[in-house]
Amino acid sequence: MTHVLRVDPVHPDIQLIAKAADCLRAGGLVAFPTETVYGLGAHALDPDAVARVFQAKGRPANDPLIVHVATLDAARPLVADLPRTAQDLAARFWPGPLTLVLRRSPLVPDEVTAGLDTVAIRIPSHPVARALLDACGLPLAAPSANLFSRPSPTQAAHVLADLAGRIDIVVDGGPTDVGVESTVVDLTTRPPMVLRPGVVDLDALRSVIPDVGTRQAAASDADPLRAPGMMARHYSPVTPVLLFDGERDTTLARLTGAARDRIARGESVIVLAFDEDRPEFRPLHVHLVELGPEGDPPAVAARLYAALREADQAHASVILVRGISTRHPLSAAIQDRLRRAATS
Ligand code: AMP
Ligand code: MG
Repeated sequence: MTHVLRVDPVHPDIQLIAKAADCLRAGGLVAFPTETVYGLGAHALDPDAVARVFQAKGRPANDPLIVHVATLDAARPLVADLPRTAQDLAARFWPGPLTLVLRRSPLVPDEVTAGLDTVAIRIPSHPVARALLDACGLPLAAPSANLFSRPSPTQAAHVLADLAGRIDIVVDGGPTDVGVESTVVDLTTRPPMVLRPGVVDLDALRSVIPDVGTRQAAASDADPLRAPGMMARHYSPVTPVLLFDGERDTTLARLTGAARDRIARGESVIVLAFDEDRPEFRPLHVHLVELGPEGDPPAVAARLYAALREADQAHASVILVRGISTRHPLSAAIQDRLRRAATS
């Protein structure tokens, strides 16, 4: 039985937060909103609690978890050292949607780090996440609160759709703000590497650590993981997703052509469509799911996972989507998630 505790996203009820904190201290599993997506929290220093996270999600044990802390001081005991680069990035971006991979201390259980000698850490900015971290006084290991490889949850309803009955509590603080997961930067390599793009983009990172580079995900899930947890297929609906990339007009023509052909063959087709593209699809009478305006990438990011889930619920034979072509700090993160959703 999963309890839902509804709280105000800005001023959460401290009694409800205390209840969730008690559950975490006792080794329970609590889903809560962060500014990126909903996380599934567990006491990060309790190996049994962490094992329950993997069990509830069906997550492979070689995919390490991010540890959420309330303050930089709470991060210190978890790491072997806090290099200058980490301190500078923390000063600029924490609390916020940036995760730093650092050398771990022996305090962090192997279950959290998938046996690596590094640990991923961030301080979230969402008032509910912060209230919960303050109230429990623990570091919380918290991956996204979805079944493994499914789209991350951006609403409490998404968490319940995947995990009802498998976790103790969902703290419902309404829809999350950013909508895509945190940027992950590995500070243990030279140069430091972005392992996962997010709203803190390369330009923002370079303003603090100029030599930061990017690393691509594994080409397929059969490849040895170049970075842990970077499975190519991720964030995916059950329905196959076909991604069309390129300059807007030609790409749109290819996509509408493909939709027309498939409909003619009797397939049921869903199109995930930017608002600007909708008139193009009108003659096709195809089922559209709105992605929001392409000209407003923050709105697209906030809507992306809900749209993927909604498209999936139609049980169509295929989901067609055009890649985002707008230049914006969030575009790389959106493209990354669309590519992974489209990897079979
Ligand atoms: P999630 O919390 O589900 O969004 O996924 C957390 C992701 O953070 C993992 O899948 C990895 O990509 C990354 N991560 C966590 N810990 C580490 C680590 N020690 N080294 C490298 N990447 C990590
Ligand atoms: Mg995840």
